[in-house]
Amino acid sequence: MATLLDNTAELSRSEVIKAGATDRSQQRHPEKANRPDGQILRKPSWIRVKAPGSAMFKETNRIMRDNNLVTVCEEAGCPNIGECWSKKHATMMIMGDTCTRACAFCNIKTGMPNPLDKQEPYNVGQSVKQLGLNHVVITSVDRDDLADGGAQHFVEVIQAIREASPHTTIEVLTPDFLRKEGAVEAVVAAKPDVFNHNLETVPSKYLKVRPGARYFHSLRILQQVKEIDPNMFTKSGIMVGLGEERYEVLQVMDDMRAANIDFITIGQYLQPTKKHYQIDRFVTPDEFKSFERMAKVKGFLMVSSSPLTRSSFHAGDDFAELKKNRYAKLGI
Ligand code: SF4
Repeated sequence: MATLLDNTAELSRSEVIKAGATDRSQQRHPEKANRPDGQILRKPSWIRVKAPGSAMFKETNRIMRDNNLVTVCEEAGCPNIGECWSKKHATMMIMGDTCTRACAFCNIKTGMPNPLDKQEPYNVGQSVKQLGLNHVVITSVDRDDLADGGAQHFVEVIQAIREASPHTTIEVLTPDFLRKEGAVEAVVAAKPDVFNHNLETVPSKYLKVRPGARYFHSLRILQQVKEIDPNMFTKSGIMVGLGEERYEVLQVMDDMRAANIDFITIGQYLQPTKKHYQIDRFVTPDEFKSFERMAKVKGFLMVSSSPLTRSSFHAGDDFAELKKNRYAKLGI
């Protein structure tokens, strides 16, 4: 039977490290060091996660380390790591462990990244094969320092996965490629099965939560993907509990539908440390259900809305459902 943890950030981190994954306790956010401490709220009863440490978890960890790969599961301190890794579902984060942005909600290390690892596309392909994945999610840090934002690296990773594991469907969760002309086109041309880019929050919160990004630019990327390849599935997500109003969430849904986005994910924001953006509240499971109903009415092909929803959580099962829903809509 799965062990369930009270998912306080500290407990989750120590359990994850004990199980052999990356220790994220060193200073990772120099830009946040002088911010006042916020209050970390105790998590409600409905946020319970599976403890990491199963044999499969260790095997997933071994494959990641042997291939010298970084995962967002570890770097972001994802609460779902116990469940996902026990099914070998790891989301690889390419182009290093250091991000050139400094979003207020995010636990990825910030600073000046190292040069790209030319071996990484091959290593990702091999690890997907070794994990035996039917569906893989590949994400990355923001690489504003690169002329193409890392688009070509995404292309090489997609190609390497296709070569090593041709049956695996590929979902990319990309940065916003702000001011990187041609980047989105290059990634779409490599034909991932799903193009995901998260809006993360409602427009009124952008300047504080996602200061380096622009809401309409992020939305436009997803619209552009559909314009280039109308058959490509598009996906985007937001966190709630950052102080947004309900009507703002509904407006984001309308904006996403206007951009023809197929799949929306809505999950609870969990504050990584006292220096990160202060959580406003825990949204109740009933409210998540209500968001789900509204999103379905608004015409999304697929909706995942729950406290522990994350972009890559259950992504393989959701992709199968997404395809089924499209076929049903087309009467195939
Ligand atoms: S939800 Fe995504 S980021 Fe979190 S552990 Fe699962 S695969 Fe990794």
